Amino acid sequence: MYPTSDVVVIGGGIIGSAAAFFLANNPDFDGKVTVIEKDNSYQSSSTTLSAASIRQQFSTPENIKISQFGIEFLRNVGDILALDKINQTESVPDIGLQEKGYLLLASSNGEDILRNNNIVQREHGADINLLTPTQLGDRFPWMNCTDLSLGSLGNTGEGWFDAYSLLQLFRAKNKELGVDYIYDEVIDLKSDCKSVNAVVLKKGSSISGRYFINAAGPQAASVASMAKVPLPVESRKRCVFVFHCRDEIHNCPLVVDNSGVYFRPEGENFICGVSPDAKNDPLSYDYDIDYNLFDETIWPILAHRVPAFESIKQINAWAGHYAYNLLDQNVILGTHPEIDNLYFANGFSGHGLQQAPAVGRALSELIVHSKYRSLDLSIFGFDRIMKNTPVKELNII
Ligand SMILES: Cc1cc2nc3c(=O)[nH]c(=O)nc-3n(C[C@H](O)[C@H](O)[C@H](O)COP(=O)(O)OP(=O)(O)OC[C@H]3O[C@@H](n4cnc5c(N)ncnc54)[C@H](O)[C@@H]3O)c2cc1C
Repeated sequence: MYPTSDVVVIGGGIIGSAAAFFLANNPDFDGKVTVIEKDNSYQSSSTTLSAASIRQQFSTPENIKISQFGIEFLRNVGDILALDKINQTESVPDIGLQEKGYLLLASSNGEDILRNNNIVQREHGADINLLTPTQLGDRFPWMNCTDLSLGSLGNTGEGWFDAYSLLQLFRAKNKELGVDYIYDEVIDLKSDCKSVNAVVLKKGSSISGRYFINAAGPQAASVASMAKVPLPVESRKRCVFVFHCRDEIHNCPLVVDNSGVYFRPEGENFICGVSPDAKNDPLSYDYDIDYNLFDETIWPILAHRVPAFESIKQINAWAGHYAYNLLDQNVILGTHPEIDNLYFANGFSGHGLQQAPAVGRALSELIVHSKYRSLDLSIFGFDRIMKNTPVKELNII
């Protein structure tokens, strides 16, 4: 006899933990949720290695609405994920949300894209302003605006937070709600032609279930292959560099330079990074830091954009992995057309952390009600992969 769970979640990072929370907290669901996580230190998970930022500045209405729910969730996370057993003397859970905005910069080449995106964003209630180079210079006197045509700044609803704290809050709340976390690796799925029946674990046991969620992050394709599903999601390395600047840079948002380099404050320091162009972005599983990327690509761009960054000191760095969706860099969400009880939530590329609340809620609705109730996310369904019809999100970072 295998132990049984109503829902088995494969991967206990932010997506698996958010899905477990929205299921366990759903008044219409009274089943058992089990999360299988192979590494309870989470030291290699995308969640803990992320830049942990949230933006409203997408071009796809569904991505904007996902972030609107995301920011509301983050603003209220202390109440939503508070433990019932917490007493008055203990502090309210905090994820250090800093709502300081994203600033996307464009030269003349990218100006139209920012303007068109702004129309969509404002139509969908995102609080985003366009700024001319003069306005940018007035607002951010530390920035070199000479080669810029436009900036797009989130007034509210954008910023950054502590990803590890958010994950820990989800896990603690989930355990209180009765979710089991099992620290083991899923090495196989038992299935018949239309359904998955059980997960096989490395330490020798199996767990059967009614529904399964693939929340394995950059390893999602390996889990999908256990059900003989080709999933176009690859592990792609991204390096993040921490640097210190002697000068004060006041009122700094998360800046995405027109070159693609981004930087933002992190405590008294800054973090920065850049995604490589598609031709130089191989499948990668290692965590080696590419220091040349900082020296040869990022630093010159930082120093050009912010003259005070000419004399910065790079003090730390790490590498993590995107679960890179080869078709369109957006989430693949829901079941595969040929397997009715294996739910996918994979391929977020660089924006999965901020999407976890809305995607967790969406998975819970799909499992409990067999359809989306709050926000229709069917454009992210698996059938677009089979039909080769990408979701054309213009703001991929
Ligand atoms: C450098 C970097 C910067 C980023 N910046 C941002 C950002 O600013 N904003 C944003 O929204 N997103 C950002 N992202 C993306 C974001 O971090 C991810 O999209 C998100 O964390 C994905 O969460 P996940 O739960 O799917 O994956 P993960 O956090 O990787 O969790 C998956 C878990 O599954 C486990 N697992 C895998 N296979 C198995 C198995 N067979 N059995 C059991 N367990 C298994 C893993 O151990 C892992 O803990 C960034 C990512 C990186 C790498």
